[in-house]
Amino acid sequence: MIPAETKAVATRGYATHNKEAKFEPFEFARREVGPNDVLIDIEYCGICHTDIHQARAEWEPMIPAIYPMVPGHEIVGRVTQVGDKVTKFKVGDAAGIGCFIDSCGECPACLSGNEQFCFKGCAMSYNGTEMDRTTRTYGGYSNKYVINEDYALKVNATGDLSGVAPLLCAGITTYAPLKKWGVGPGKKVAVAGLGGLGHMGVKIAAAMGAEVTVLSTSPSKEADARGLGATGFLNTRDEAAVKAATGSFDLILDTIAAMHDYNLYLSLLGLNGVMVVVGAPSEPIPLNAFSLIGGNKVIAGSMIGGIAETQEMLDFCVEHGVTSDVEVITPDRIEEAYDRTVKSDVRYRFVIDMK
Ligand SMILES: [Zn+2]
Ligand SMILES: [Zn+2]
Repeated sequence: MIPAETKAVATRGYATHNKEAKFEPFEFARREVGPNDVLIDIEYCGICHTDIHQARAEWEPMIPAIYPMVPGHEIVGRVTQVGDKVTKFKVGDAAGIGCFIDSCGECPACLSGNEQFCFKGCAMSYNGTEMDRTTRTYGGYSNKYVINEDYALKVNATGDLSGVAPLLCAGITTYAPLKKWGVGPGKKVAVAGLGGLGHMGVKIAAAMGAEVTVLSTSPSKEADARGLGATGFLNTRDEAAVKAATGSFDLILDTIAAMHDYNLYLSLLGLNGVMVVVGAPSEPIPLNAFSLIGGNKVIAGSMIGGIAETQEMLDFCVEHGVTSDVEVITPDRIEEAYDRTVKSDVRYRFVIDMK
């Protein structure tokens, strides 16, 4: 019998070894390709702000940072090997991997297609473990990934995949709440914040047929907002403009991760309007109950999406030609990309070329 370790998949990645360390080449083994697994040769991996928080241990103790850490959960590549029982993929297919790679499959969250909320805790793509709670997971800043086909996504796009990678996190994070709250033709949507998430929110809401306005404190972003598909722009520091826009929107997609005045944003919603929070300030939010009571307003949250919905989002984006605006870098520039992402100095997502 051949020892299992000889079939393990030798993988080269980039890891950080502590919260201050630079990324360095790191060799490790993925598990051997099982009957239900696919092996994906990674072409591109997006840099999500979540990667920076975890690599720099900024979310401890809530989310411990496990080193060496290979981040990356916006992954696209090509299938280069399939297990005997795989039906969804064949060699050569483009495929994607998002924030999680497995879940229990039998709890109410998993059974309802919300695997991201698996009651047992899903297996995160990196800085976590497989469902055995022992085998470490390493992310997409690497050249290969082995994953159960049920948790890999089909990418039916042709051509360069760099702009597709960020859809796996930024795309689904914005698509899911827009879909859930009925965005479509005739709806007035405001996207608060124009960063990695916000720019996807604008593109997807516009593709859904909504009238989109960007809410920002940076008037310099107006031209970009319009270029991405917004027809309106509101500088939230312009008191007169804010007052004039009172009650204007059906939905606000709030992507701002820094503390801001939620009551001001709620005042921009019309009757029964909904503000969905996808950006997460680290401090508690000061909220005046009257901001909700007047006008029967809703403040809601949303976190990524399940596998079926992520597939639906990818298919929607391919059909509508929606991709992320990206700046492609080589792996030796990860630190620079991190520093620039923290300063919002990127239009709008860094993607690492892993080829
Ligand atoms: Zn992410
Ligand atoms: Zn579950």
